[in-house]
Amino acid sequence: MTARIIDGRAIAAVIRAECADRTRRFEERTGIRPGLAVILVGHDPASAVYVRNKVRACEAAGIHSFTHRLHEKVENEELLNLITRLNADPSVHGILVQLPLPAHIDMARILETIAPSKDVDGFHLYNVGALVTGNTVFSPCTPYGVVKLLEHEGIPVEGQNVVVVGASNIVGKPMALMLMARDATVAICHAKARDLAQFTIGADILVVAAGVPGLITAPMVKKGAVVIDVGINRLEDGKIVGDVDFAGVSRRASHITPVPGGVGPMTVTMLLVNTIESAERFYAAQRTAS
Ligand code: NAP
Repeated sequence: MTARIIDGRAIAAVIRAECADRTRRFEERTGIRPGLAVILVGHDPASAVYVRNKVRACEAAGIHSFTHRLHEKVENEELLNLITRLNADPSVHGILVQLPLPAHIDMARILETIAPSKDVDGFHLYNVGALVTGNTVFSPCTPYGVVKLLEHEGIPVEGQNVVVVGASNIVGKPMALMLMARDATVAICHAKARDLAQFTIGADILVVAAGVPGLITAPMVKKGAVVIDVGINRLEDGKIVGDVDFAGVSRRASHITPVPGGVGPMTVTMLLVNTIESAERFYAAQRTAS
């Protein structure tokens, strides 16, 4: 068996074109242009690249982006004040703080200062609780992107055995919740899981987000499984790889995402979707109030 490669770039391009159209129609109807504020603290090169990609994607989709670059020694209070100002700014519908933050910054406090209605990353505790209880406000962008990839490929989730490798707050846990909400039977594995293969071999859909190159090899994958590789790892030679042995697993799986070009392009795309959604809700709430 040779797996069908799920082309995240192509699917992202389709959704981004839909976003541009949706933004244009929304602005024509309401005079409001969706706006995203991006806060970058310090000079981490990878973070700078991520922010640049987000800003470019916003521009292409007709979304206004406001980038706030802060010194790496910025005080917590200054950052909190900026977020408070952005919470009150009617031209800003989404606020994103690029992670990771320098160690002296109280990340939990920062994320909880963002108004839940503008928390387009979905990291605020209120939004995490909303996701858990099935009252989602914003789906976190990376797992949301995975769900959209599965939808676009016509891969059913209901009743499927899903294994998520990785249990972080930004990928693994929300991924498991989102697939459980779509009636999959979900197991989550983490670094202390004993005999990882015992779990992965039973997965109809295997989502891997551990940050460990080569973690998943062909014998760990059920024949015909759908394999989604969220991992992004830079090897010493500069090559970017996922967590899955792509060549080996491609011979067992029915579908597989490449790295790069799989989940990666979907993450920024879902940020655009969440920002437009937020602007539409803002307008609807204004109309109801008036
Ligand atoms: P993270 O916060 O470091 O979490 C990694 C998770 O994987 C943890 O739950 C950890 O377990 C688990 N893990 C580590 N080694 C493992 C092993 N040998 N076996 C099983 N589980 C293991 O990372 P993250 O932010 O979730 O990101 C994960 C990967 O996805 C990274 O490569 C990251 O670059 C990538 N990523 C990609 C995108 C995208 O857009 N494609 C977005 C976000 C992240 P413990 O909980 O026990 O420590």
